[in-house]
Amino acid sequence: MRPERAARSVFRCHLEDGLRRARAAAGRPGGRLSRVPEESLGAVVSPRPGICCPGRGGEKGLMAAKHQPNAPKTKSPGSVANGGAVTQGQWGRAWEVDWFSLASVIFLLLFAPFIVYFFIMACDQYSCSLTAPVVDLATGHARLSDIWAKTPSVTKKAAQLYTLWVAFQVLLYVSLPDFCHKFLPGYVGGVQEGAVTPAGVVNKYEINGLQAWLITHALWFANAHFLSWFSPTIIFDNWIPLLWCANILGYAVSTFAMVKGYCFPTSARDCKFTGNFFYNYMMGVEFNPRIGKWFDFKLFFNGRPGIVAWTLINLSFAAKQQELHGHVTNSMVLVNVLQAIYVLDFFWNEAWYLKTIDICHDHFGWYLGWGDCVWLPYLYTLQGLYLVYHPVQLSMPHAVGVLLLGLSGYYVFRVANHQKDLFRRTGGRCLIWGRKPKAIECAYTSADGRKHHSQLLVSGFWGVARHLNYTGDLMGSLAYCLACGGGHLLPYFYIVYMTILLTHRCLRDEHRCASKYGSDWERYTAAVPYRLLPGIF
Ligand code: NDP
Repeated sequence: MRPERAARSVFRCHLEDGLRRARAAAGRPGGRLSRVPEESLGAVVSPRPGICCPGRGGEKGLMAAKHQPNAPKTKSPGSVANGGAVTQGQWGRAWEVDWFSLASVIFLLLFAPFIVYFFIMACDQYSCSLTAPVVDLATGHARLSDIWAKTPSVTKKAAQLYTLWVAFQVLLYVSLPDFCHKFLPGYVGGVQEGAVTPAGVVNKYEINGLQAWLITHALWFANAHFLSWFSPTIIFDNWIPLLWCANILGYAVSTFAMVKGYCFPTSARDCKFTGNFFYNYMMGVEFNPRIGKWFDFKLFFNGRPGIVAWTLINLSFAAKQQELHGHVTNSMVLVNVLQAIYVLDFFWNEAWYLKTIDICHDHFGWYLGWGDCVWLPYLYTLQGLYLVYHPVQLSMPHAVGVLLLGLSGYYVFRVANHQKDLFRRTGGRCLIWGRKPKAIECAYTSADGRKHHSQLLVSGFWGVARHLNYTGDLMGSLAYCLACGGGHLLPYFYIVYMTILLTHRCLRDEHRCASKYGSDWERYTAAVPYRLLPGIF
């Protein structure tokens, strides 16, 4: 969102900044309980007027506020009510892709599936060593074709299992209105509204994820203890064949979403066309693609097949550890418990999740579609997988330390997110840390020209740093990794990845907020100067 006459110097700074960040972030997929690379690519854009939705009303806005870590200097006038608006509000859209961004997109489209394959194959064939396959290949002890030949291919059983799984989740999503909110005090479910989109649309969602999670897990436990229809190790036993199925779905849904965006979008005014096919494919064209009234792609793929499966996958790994080693280690219990808390938190707060970046700002493309189908279930569960091959039994102090770190991370994550949600929901009429919250008044304009009013919280955790919710998330992520001991690098991939993901997400979000709120955002960054770690960053 940038005035049509964006000063050249600002444009240059923006571009350089985008490139710098993209270089730093290049080469790794990444999103909320998900995904891939927009985290690394979103910023690599250059402003240009009048791109987006050709033939559908067009857009005059520009997306390009100069971003600077601690205090964005851009006034970001376009769309910002107090910044001398030039055009309509178009935050988060109308981008043009530079060469580096394009190269990164193509790289990730081609290689992200191999990155996932590499990790899973390393466990399967090299007992989770990341270096052994590289050394084998480098020294000629193995050829790529040998490794590939030892890799299980897709099987009929895996295809049936996966189809059944996805079909069951679709069924739970579309045909079972939420009943949990009727008897669970404090739980918000049923029909809820999302945030205002850039085109000014407010979508309705059926929030029934907790119910889907409970039913799925009740069936899992019923099977494990009474029905015995399948072995609880079924997921582990078919892990690589299922990977191929997940990839097929990930690519199919991303391709469908792309075609749909061009041919029959749900909301044409919320489409984003950069003029680059690969970038559109990866980052998505449609903002909220839907089939019918209720099947929302973003909510379903972000929240269902992958995240509901996360805890089941961990349970299957625990069952396999029991089968192979005769017991379940305390590290496996810790990983299962800490990650289950995170997953349950997600479903308990699904209505809140409608207001997070994934749903509010990201378009639906390969980054979310493939990322949710493949990246999330396969790479977020690496700790459990590792512990099947390396049954680490932690000393009591180590286990207690991991538990405390995980729980305190979760506390910061949850309370920070709750404070912002409470503040926004009540319009500031609430108490935060026992006091009336302080806020910065701000305003912006949506693409339909309407002005909106908003507030930025400067109390509670939001007064300590601008993204302490990410810091809490990182503490929890570190705890999962530390639960695996120090034998191998593989389980630590998660904290490295999350650090890159959330740091870059933080930068990307601030870039967007600077565009959206202009000088009001500058007042906020002046009041709260640090992002993730007070005094450091
Ligand atoms: P936030 O919940 O931090 O949302 C950022 C948005 O909040 C901003 O764009 C802005 O939106 C608004 N905002 C920013 N500052 C303030 C303030 N001071 N007061 C009020 N509103 C403010 O980010 P996410 O949606 O990325 O993350 C939500 C949670 O999900 C986080 O805890 C994160 O850790 C987690 N997450 C987990 C991932 C995973 O893979 N495990 C990946 C990504 C996120 P607006 O336009 O409304 O003003």
